[in-house]
This record gives sequence, C-alpha cells and structure tokens, in this order.
Amino acid sequence: MKFEEYRIAEGIKTSISKLGFKKPTDIQFKAIPPILKGEDVLAIAQTGTGKTAAFVIPIIHILHERKISGRPDGVKCLVMAPTHELALQIDSVFKTLGKHTRITSFCIHGGVDQEPQIKKLNEGVDVLIATPGRMFDLVSQGALNLKRVEILVLDEADHMLDLGFIKDINDLMRHLPKKRQTLFFSATINEKIKNLAYSLVTNAIRIQISPKDPVAKNIEHAVAYVEMDDKRFFLEYLIKDHPDKKILVFVRTKVRAERVRSALERVDIESDTIHSDKLQAEREKTMQSFRKGELKILIATDVSARGIDIPDVEYVVNYDLPDTSEQYVHRVGRTGRANQKGQAVSFCSTEEKELLAEIENNLGKEIQRIVISKNDYENTISFTKDTSHDWKKLMKEAEEQEKKHKRKNKNSRR
Ligand code: ADP
Ligand code: MG
Repeated sequence: MKFEEYRIAEGIKTSISKLGFKKPTDIQFKAIPPILKGEDVLAIAQTGTGKTAAFVIPIIHILHERKISGRPDGVKCLVMAPTHELALQIDSVFKTLGKHTRITSFCIHGGVDQEPQIKKLNEGVDVLIATPGRMFDLVSQGALNLKRVEILVLDEADHMLDLGFIKDINDLMRHLPKKRQTLFFSATINEKIKNLAYSLVTNAIRIQISPKDPVAKNIEHAVAYVEMDDKRFFLEYLIKDHPDKKILVFVRTKVRAERVRSALERVDIESDTIHSDKLQAEREKTMQSFRKGELKILIATDVSARGIDIPDVEYVVNYDLPDTSEQYVHRVGRTGRANQKGQAVSFCSTEEKELLAEIENNLGKEIQRIVISKNDYENTISFTKDTSHDWKKLMKEAEEQEKKHKRKNKNSRR
C-alpha cells in the first residue's frame, strides 16, 4: 500500500512525497490505521524503522480534521521524549509533515529563558514536545495547562525509564484528562515497559515487529577483540580505511570521548564530541554539522546520542562496549536507517569479554566475530601515524635485535 492511498489530509501527503517516502515502513503500516481510529497503541519496533512518522502522520491528520479554524485553544497533543535532542528531532518531523496543515508544534528547551517559551505556549500550540522533566516543571509552575490534551505519546519509553523519568511521567498523568488516546513507542520491551504501558492505558493494541532479532536486518554488526590500549589504533585504521564515511563512535564516558578525540587529532583526523559537559548550543552545532556531513567523525556517549536520527551514518563503532543489550541495539541502530545498509563494529577488550557474553545472552544470539590474525593486529598497531607511539616500534626493533643476538650467540657457541 502506498501513502497516496491512505485516507489522510492531502497536505500531509504532499509533505510525505516531498520527503521522498513512498511506502510506509512495517511499523507505519501496522500502527497508522489503529491510531487514526483513536485506539491506544503500544508499538515495539527496532530503531530506525520509522516510528516517528508512524505517530506523527496520524496525529497531524486527527488534529487537522478536528481543528475548525486557526484559533488556538490549548495543547492537544503531548509528546514525551527522553532527551532534548530527540524532542527537537520529533518537533522537526511534526513541522515538516504538518507544513501544509493547520497544525502547529513546539518543543520546549531546557537551559534557556522560560518567558518566551511560556509566551509561545499561550499563543497556542497544538503539539508540544519535551522531556517529562521539563513538562513537569512547567505544569507545576502553572505555565502549562494540560486539560485539553487528547493524545499522549511516549516515545522511546524504554529510555525514559532508564533515565529515571518514571516519577515525572506518573506525576504528569494526574494533570492529564483521563479520557485520551495514549501511544507508546519503544525499541525494546520488558516487564517495566509493559507495566508502565498498562498502567496508563486501558485497551492498548500491541504491535510488535520482529521481536526475535532486535537488530535490524540491514545492519551488519560484528565484534573484534582489541585490547584497551590498542583501540585507538584500530579506530584510526578503520577511519582511514573508510575515507569520507560518516562514522559514529560510542564511548563509555565523556572523559574517554575527549581522549579519543585528541588521539585522533594527533594523527590528523578531525572529529568532534558530544556529551553532557557541553553546552546545549555547542551540542546542537556539532550535531548539525554531522548531519550535514561536514563533520565525518562524531564521538558520543550513550546519553547524548540517544534516539537521534542522523541520515547516512555508514559506520557505528562501539569503541567501548555498552553496559546493556538495549544500549547495544540502540547504538548499532544509529546506522542503517530506513532500510539503508549499515555497518557496526564493537571493540571488545579482555576486560570486556564478560560484558559481551551478557549482551549476547540478552540478545539471544551470538554476534559475529571479526577474526584478526596476530600479524594483522600488529600491522594495525604499527600503521598509526602517532609519533608518541614510536616507543612501541622501538620496543619491537629492540626485541628483534635481541632475538638476532641470541641466535648469533647460539651459533657461535656451536
Ligand atoms: P525510529 O524512531 O524507529 O528509530 P525514525 O522515525 O527516526 O526511526 O526514522 C528513521 C529514518 O527513516 C528517518 O531518517 C526517516 O526519515 C526515515 N523514514 C521514516 N519513514 C520512512 C518511509 N516510509 N520511507 C522512507 N524513509 C522513511
Ligand atoms: Mg524513534
């Protein structure tokens, strides 16, 4: 079925075709009709499968049909997302798809002056997007009235729980009308998500797409055993082996992010980092240039990169293994968006092997191994341009000389 055949406002179809979307993705195909009917939906699908448009399209249609004129009368739809970046991204999808409709959307920022935001809210906004924490702040200050909300969306519900938003979500519920449509989107499902979902909705239709393998089929992902101290050389090699590719590198901490960046700098590779120590404006600027492809290598921590959709990331590198299989799925899901091909590789050190086993156990399958011969491993290390690394070469030379020396001695003793 094509989008043209859907019974949705023409203005939305125009925007969909401008985006170049022809057919709905699986999750869109399954979720759009029940949402249009006003049903509650709990949708579980891998990252990169088009969940955003799966709720944005029907929501714009519903609100557009109901909205009699341009007259503002309060927020009709509330979208909660785990991070500010994700909220902004959802807002931009609402704006793009709603361009030829009467629907307006707005994303609440953290860390900026509240007054203009409150003013904007009072002018009338149909769809409001923010993190649960930020929304709760505004509600408790009396700056945000949720009495007219008809549709509630929780995007990346799994991550909102991970980030400890459960209390904010529950507190917010008390301010929302009981009679409403609730939509849940998540890449993973577990008891906690189910409990939250069923505590907020009455008869959710559950839609689940390929639950068996949470990593999308179009993503090739593998793991290579690389020792902690050698990881930077392997990253350098990989980057140089894939010139002009957009590569997203995940590290465990912000300190490590900066270290990797300076290690790359030493070998003349330009990269940038995003993590929570950076100012919002800085993070946005970096994201923007990575989106546009001006920046090729982005080093990120999990929290800062959660849920972000960046077109054409060809390679994801797990420089450090993530702590959980959910994080693993999310990280590798940053590549291979919407049926494009993607590649991901994880560097696993001896210390991380246990973690790897746990991740694989939870994924329910083994991750492919990249077998690196001793020779290749050593070549990769000596491939580096890093001059501070010369001592390794010197050591090697010394070793060889010693060997020769020993041989000589042996022979002379004969
Ligand atoms: P998810 O939330 O499931 O991780 P997103 O909603 O961020 O995924 O979508 C991933 C990518 O797929 C985006 O770049 C989006 O523009 C693209 N996309 C979504 N729907 C379609 C479609 N029907 N056809 C082609 N591309 C699509
Ligand atoms: Mg999403």
